[in-house]
Amino acid sequence: MDSRSALFSFPDPYDLEGSRSLFLQAIEENVRFHYNACPEYRKIAQARGFSPHPLQTERELAELPILPTILFKRHDLRSMEGKKLLITATSSGTGGTPISIQFDMGGLFCGLRMVLRLGRYHHFFSPIPTNYIVMGYKPRRDNHTAAVKTAFGATLFTPAIRRRYALLYRDGKYVPDLDGVIQAIVSYSQSSLPTRFMGFPSYTYFVLHRMEEQGITVKLKPGSKIMLGGGWKQFYAQQVDKKALYALAKRVLDLSEKDFIEFFGAVEHPILYCSCPNHHFHIPVYSRVIIRDVHTLQPLPYGCPGLVNLITPMVKGAPLTSVMTDDLGVLHEPNSCGCGIPAPWLELLGRVGLKGLKTCAAGAAELLSEVKL
Ligand SMILES: [Zn+2]
Repeated sequence: MDSRSALFSFPDPYDLEGSRSLFLQAIEENVRFHYNACPEYRKIAQARGFSPHPLQTERELAELPILPTILFKRHDLRSMEGKKLLITATSSGTGGTPISIQFDMGGLFCGLRMVLRLGRYHHFFSPIPTNYIVMGYKPRRDNHTAAVKTAFGATLFTPAIRRRYALLYRDGKYVPDLDGVIQAIVSYSQSSLPTRFMGFPSYTYFVLHRMEEQGITVKLKPGSKIMLGGGWKQFYAQQVDKKALYALAKRVLDLSEKDFIEFFGAVEHPILYCSCPNHHFHIPVYSRVIIRDVHTLQPLPYGCPGLVNLITPMVKGAPLTSVMTDDLGVLHEPNSCGCGIPAPWLELLGRVGLKGLKTCAAGAAELLSEVKL
């Protein structure tokens, strides 16, 4: 087994110390692979005077060639060609410049192992058939966006008996159907089975807000959950206050704070970050996060806000080893959360130059403005 597969099979998904040497080895292998297979990556590395070498400490991860995510918007960077590539994932279904990333078969298997392990750790799986409200786009054959896949994929954690989508494709475009969703919620609440919500936080907020305005309250069955993902960025872009959302869900659906699960991930860094009981995103063994000074790009200590640099050896199809996002965040010290997970946790603060940069979720919010709330 290569070190990448070994890392993604590591038993405890939050034991960063125990898996450190495996992680460093997997990174070295991944860097060496891209260096040899992707001419653009090699050029960037050489310009920095970098050549692949064994890594002794995590500190050395800061020296890896960093590719800004914007590069993937403008260039189709690949380290593999043809049949070895299994799937193309694309970000941003609405607005903005989409990013297409090539995933290799081995990387996908790693992703699958990661989702199974994290799903088990965070108790996402349930054998009980479940009603689903998907706060996102109904999949179409020609819509390959990651948000669609994520939202649909999450409905596989339990057997899905029904799925109702918030965004329907009508007359050549997606339109929000909030009233249809509310009707589905009311009907699901009368069934004997739990209901799970999955998708953009903004839709969840708008739907619950609308229910409250109309005086509609329901009591969902035990085991019901609200899973927020795909559009995590507008928690700050639209300032949906999480505490307000938890309180609203309590009043309208009789769900409590512990019934919320949040995810974050990105096409250019396909690692699944899941919220802990304190709603923090701990770093799993599959990745590392470096926070960098906005001006000098120097690594910053725990607790200091800066640009978020994401590192993982998961993908061989494209050189995603170390990518620089345009997001601002803070990395909090190990053992500082209080939930029992020792790994450091990442707090997202916002986006640099929000103007002109549209996320998938922000595009969805634009669609929503067509609906009178
Ligand atoms: Zn925690």
